[in-house]
Amino acid sequence: MLLIPCPWCGERDESEFSYGGTARSLPPLDADPAEWERVLYVHDNPKGWHDDLWFHGFGCQRWFALRRHTVTQEIGEPDAAADDGAP
Ligand SMILES: [Zn+2]
Repeated sequence: MLLIPCPWCGERDESEFSYGGTARSLPPLDADPAEWERVLYVHDNPKGWHDDLWFHGFGCQRWFALRRHTVTQEIGEPDAAADDGAP
């Protein structure tokens, strides 16, 4: 079980959240379909620190980025700046 620190609600159980994938910039909507395919379906499986997107569905209904270590499950500070209304 993870305790995830929501920037607006504080620390909550991971069951209140949905994982949104890797926190990264998306290509423009008119980008080459091959670029969108790579972004949507090809994923790294990093060992170490990773930037995740999380949605607090059973709380404030907001997105945020969080740095998480994929081996130890250590969690860094959340980044509320990721909340632009979309994952
Ligand atoms: Zn929240």
